[in-house]
Amino acid sequence: MRLRDLPSVDEVLRDERLVGLPRGLAVDATRRVLELARTAIRDGAAPGPIVEAVLDELESSRRPSLRRVLNATGVLVHTNLGRAPLADEALARVVEVGSGYSNLEYDLERGERGSRQDHLAPLLRRLTGAEAALVVNNNAAAVLLALAALGEGREVVVSRGELIEIGDGFRIPDVLARSGARLVEVGTTNRTRATDYERAIGPETALLLRVHQSNFRVVGFSERPRLDELAEVARAHDLPLVDDLGSGSLGGVGDEPTPAESLRAGADLVCFSGDKLLGGPQAGIVVGRADLVQQLRRHPLQRALRADKLTLAALEGTLGLAFDPTTRDQAPVLRMLHEPLEVILARAERLAERVGGEVEETVARVGGGALPLAELPSAACAVEESLAQRLRTGNPPVVALVRDGRTLLDCRTLTDAEAEEVAAAVVAARA
Ligand SMILES: *Cc1c(COP(=O)(O)O)cnc(C)c1O
Repeated sequence: MRLRDLPSVDEVLRDERLVGLPRGLAVDATRRVLELARTAIRDGAAPGPIVEAVLDELESSRRPSLRRVLNATGVLVHTNLGRAPLADEALARVVEVGSGYSNLEYDLERGERGSRQDHLAPLLRRLTGAEAALVVNNNAAAVLLALAALGEGREVVVSRGELIEIGDGFRIPDVLARSGARLVEVGTTNRTRATDYERAIGPETALLLRVHQSNFRVVGFSERPRLDELAEVARAHDLPLVDDLGSGSLGGVGDEPTPAESLRAGADLVCFSGDKLLGGPQAGIVVGRADLVQQLRRHPLQRALRADKLTLAALEGTLGLAFDPTTRDQAPVLRMLHEPLEVILARAERLAERVGGEVEETVARVGGGALPLAELPSAACAVEESLAQRLRTGNPPVVALVRDGRTLLDCRTLTDAEAEEVAAAVVAARA
């Protein structure tokens, strides 16, 4: 085909398959397709059928950018893949609350203005034993708000071993600086004692901050005070102790401290994330002393950092599961975490049978900066390396790891139904 044989935009649009489509979109898509066809001809290639290409182009331009993805990486709380999939109970609450009006900030008893913070507080109090609770947009916001409300213009004492970066540049010293508080570092990277905090306390001290090391561990010659020892120091100086727990498992996940334990050990405020080991929506939860939570609620930043109604609805649904011991592990992240290896192996075997792959034992990870050393025994179906890219760009996209020249489809992060979809995606990618 020569350049001058290409149809004009108008000629293409007269094709009956394109008549009746939104004109502006069709014109744009046709221009793009003709441009690609011209490039192809100049490169000595055949441009292929134009109208079909325009229809494909239209379909992909209508496809949403934010899409559901099948996670075959074996990383449970995958930060790049949206962290925690929501439980059905959480999704049902989102649909219910989002599809109409709600009492988000309305007190139905009194017929007057209420607070969005009042909906989840009773549940969080019962789950953690705290006096009061507050929910904001994410845990980074929770820490920022706590530091701003309690430490602005004054000093916050932190161990050098806890000046961590969580990922994507969230660094404790930077957050501290943004809150308006001044950082006072104590101890060393590997060893900090209660007396180091004690010595750093002065007239400008606003609070002691403890940060869970989350995504790394210091092993060997290391020491840090127990939380109750730190709480004793804080109490002796009448200072609040704020514990940034990060993951905030409500119970039974490795050696992760729970918010309840942290409060019992003497922390005055505990901050944790809604979408790590809780397995809910992105959210930051603060629980603790009523007078301190009240200070956070009244701070102007609270208005900017507060959670949206859809988040609150999803979190309420998730917390409802956590509250009942028989449903506690039903949030997808927790279900995947506790699933026995035999079940995962059987899933990998079914997948391998469907696609002619090989079963391989693998190690899954918690991810999301939680339990960095935990190795979860898992199983994958191994297929050709060349499929990885086509699986990623397929519909639905499948994200997997490539190792030693093969694509590993880890089955700990897939449900049975998702494994079926992965099988179909492999067949389509090979075609
Ligand atoms: C993950 C984490 C944060 C940030 O939480 P987000 O929910 O990602 O905003 C803060 N502190 C610690 C210790 C964490 O592990």
